Amino acid sequence: MNSIVEIHVPDIGDFADVAVIEIAVKPGDEVNVDQALITLESDKAALDVPSPLAGHILSLTVAIGDRVSKGTLIAMIETSEAVATVQPHAVSTATRSPAISSLKMLAPTAGGYDCDVAVIGGGPGGYSAAFRAADLGMQVVLIERYDALGGVCLNVGCIPSKTLLHVAAIKEEAEQLADHGVSFGAPQIDLDKLRQFKSAVVGRLTDGLKGMARMRKVEVLHGTASFASPHSLTVTQADGGRHKVSFANCIIAAGSSPVALPFLPDSPRIVNSTGALELPFTPARMLIIGGGIIGLEMATVYGALGAKIDIVEMLDGLLPGVDRDAVEIWRKRNAGRFGEVMLGTRVDKAVADADGVTVTTADGVTGERRYDLVLQSAGRRPNGASLGLEAAGLVADARGFIAVDRQMRTALPHILAIGDIVGNPMLAHKAVHEGHVAAEAAAGMKSSMDARIIPSVAYTDPEIAWVGVTEDGAKAEGRAVTVTKFPWAASGRAVANGAGYGVTKLVFDPATRRIIGGAIVGPNAGDMIGEICLAIEMGADAIDIGKTIHPHPTLGETIGMAAELFEGVCTDLPPEQPA
Ligand code: FAD
Repeated sequence: MNSIVEIHVPDIGDFADVAVIEIAVKPGDEVNVDQALITLESDKAALDVPSPLAGHILSLTVAIGDRVSKGTLIAMIETSEAVATVQPHAVSTATRSPAISSLKMLAPTAGGYDCDVAVIGGGPGGYSAAFRAADLGMQVVLIERYDALGGVCLNVGCIPSKTLLHVAAIKEEAEQLADHGVSFGAPQIDLDKLRQFKSAVVGRLTDGLKGMARMRKVEVLHGTASFASPHSLTVTQADGGRHKVSFANCIIAAGSSPVALPFLPDSPRIVNSTGALELPFTPARMLIIGGGIIGLEMATVYGALGAKIDIVEMLDGLLPGVDRDAVEIWRKRNAGRFGEVMLGTRVDKAVADADGVTVTTADGVTGERRYDLVLQSAGRRPNGASLGLEAAGLVADARGFIAVDRQMRTALPHILAIGDIVGNPMLAHKAVHEGHVAAEAAAGMKSSMDARIIPSVAYTDPEIAWVGVTEDGAKAEGRAVTVTKFPWAASGRAVANGAGYGVTKLVFDPATRRIIGGAIVGPNAGDMIGEICLAIEMGADAIDIGKTIHPHPTLGETIGMAAELFEGVCTDLPPEQPA
């Protein structure tokens, strides 16, 4: 006769009130003896609680995140076994047998770690590669020199900058509403609280990565990795401790760092993007050196905080690579907000004292200017120096990038490289895609990096997003293209949102009528560009896009209308005048 047995948390040593981080079964499942039911995590170890008997799970009484101690009821199991010895024993995941889990556990040996894949760098490229490799059943060691996973993007890049840009956007929008008849008082900015909010957002996401690594049994080592041989790494921890990691495959995802301009002195008043995201104080006057995406995003944040911003750019235009008409919309909208925008101008010298920084510019404009804070955002360079590539028999190019093929393999096929360290564009979504390709290649799959296009977004005000062939780029190459532009002044939703200044622009190949590029300027441009990316990847033509019914009234329907313009069937603009 079957019995119904209560399964409780067994004696788990000194631990009490530990978190349930994984539930491996559900009601209705048949379980075998020693099959893991749940995984617990204390400060020191992860523990599996296996089933002490074979049977049928009737119910579970714990959920992920619950905290349990010895004796807590976990589950009710119906069994045909004798029930004299049914209580489970916890198994440390560091010693459990592979049979308990579908994933292989990696146990450190006296000589260090031996794994299928070692990943250097816990940024978007590295953690995506590590997680994909683990999902493919490989034993993975992920090595990150800092305490938190997430790399530049989560800790000092995409996420903290977008957290602050969101605040800036809301502030601007609230101010704009005065024109619509709704006024708020002058905003009170509590810099400490804003900083705390930003850190909380980052902390939540990096903690999430930690949990996901754990759930996938990815062994995370914190320390600096450098090659000891073509099949091993030395990982040096902050306290000087060392591990040896031997690997069958290695994925280098060591990322990039801000370029430090050699003529700028060391001063708390001269920061790079990481320092600027710390929000040290609100400067009255700020100089941004470098008019690329990062510089302009930081200008947007500090402008919203109340700083008067000047921008200096060596090239003769801001945001290189973007069509000039898109940048012109940005310029017009920001004309009153920023001070000088010095194009074709180089900073030659800066002298910092306790109260500020005096900057001397040359070339286009000559003169001295004084600022409370200077941001240098003159580009990023790959982090190859600490990797000891020569010990593996690899070399980086003159700029520090590691050359790879379409499978992300370096000159040594078992060592792959991804993300910022393999070249431009230095973007998180590129790193993630390359990470997946590299993991799959390491697993013997035929994956390769065959993305036709990689979108870019400047999360400025207004937002500018672009992808594929640009109008200016086509002109420079002498390539024939047909460009359509749908002005947002004709979009009901854009006008209602006070965004009638925006534009959606599509670039078509006139021979095939297929879309090959696009750009959007205006709120949510970055969210909308995904549709254009998909259309290009799918080889869509103007009819595919124009005949796709977009919801009304949305900013997204401007993409459909821009495609209708190509076919001459758009009824949201005045009729075309005969030539
Ligand atoms: P990284 O994120 O740089 O990660 C590399 C990791 O490797 C780091 O954590 C580093 O500590 C570690 N590491 C390096 N050497 C070693 C070693 N020897 N041993 C162990 N660990 C090591 N991209 C976007 O797509 N969208 C955005 O909105 C965006 N905004 C940005 C804003 C700012 C201010 C900045 C600076 C960047 C932004 N980026 C953005 C770029 C994006 O952050 C990078 O492209 C992305 O982080 C690259 O990922 P990665 O994995 O190649 O390298």
